[in-house]
Amino acid sequence: MLIDFDAKRPATVILTIAGSDNTAGAGIQADLKTGAAFGVYVATAITAITAQTATGPAEVFPVTPEQLERQISTVMTTLPVAAVKIGMLANPALLAVVAAWLRRFEIPVVLDPVFGATSGGALFEGREAEALYRQQLIPHVTLITPNLAEAGRLLEQAPAQNYEQMVAQVYALKQLGSQAVLLKGGHNTLPLATDCLLAEEELTPYSAPRQTALHSHGSGCTLATAITAGLAQGLTLPQAVAAAKSFIQGAIRHGERLQLVPKNGPVHQFYQYW
Ligand code: PLP
Repeated sequence: MLIDFDAKRPATVILTIAGSDNTAGAGIQADLKTGAAFGVYVATAITAITAQTATGPAEVFPVTPEQLERQISTVMTTLPVAAVKIGMLANPALLAVVAAWLRRFEIPVVLDPVFGATSGGALFEGREAEALYRQQLIPHVTLITPNLAEAGRLLEQAPAQNYEQMVAQVYALKQLGSQAVLLKGGHNTLPLATDCLLAEEELTPYSAPRQTALHSHGSGCTLATAITAGLAQGLTLPQAVAAAKSFIQGAIRHGERLQLVPKNGPVHQFYQYW
């Protein structure tokens, strides 16, 4: 696959603020691969190094707030960043650094709320994660992309079990103040995996037949970064979500081809290339 690239214009740049996943399925590594697959240049601000396997809990080694601040400020002052993706923030002090930057960004910001790894283990230290996300981050971003469990935590409700409950929760999430909400239905048991986008008072369901995926590690990071890449390239939010959804479905479907671990292996962001 060749991406149409206009060599006369500078490359489109996004910044990802996220954690490193040493298995390279999620986090910064997923973001770099996803951006590259979309023809977007990805700059990084790393919040934490993690050491993890496909099955065990992640060990987390956060950077200092000063180190995060320096990474963000050097990128923002030297590169033409067109959109920002926020993933794992690791702890309240690092979240505060990002919250201060959110007041200064005048570009689209996609926030993927990351509280824990699917394989187990917390990726945010401290008990007040949800309150900090609600108060300091969500009101200042373009889009939040919670899955059903993260949405339940943000709303202090049980996770939605069916489409009606998802619709009620997507409206409740919008009240938290982001410009738009994409509630991901990938983790429920309905035959259709429906995601709900609520933007400018319009609800758009994106349904796809449920995939019996053995390997979906990194799917949340990949989807959020794919949306960020689309927004940076000038797509509208519904267009960026539709393109990202189609991409993540391919990346999940082809994850099996990597044959790295028996289950919970990475999705394949370069499935269109090899
Ligand atoms: N960020 C990091 C650094 C991670 O290690 C993980 C999961 O292990 C995540 C984010 C969340 O991953 P997912 O895209 O599967 O939601």
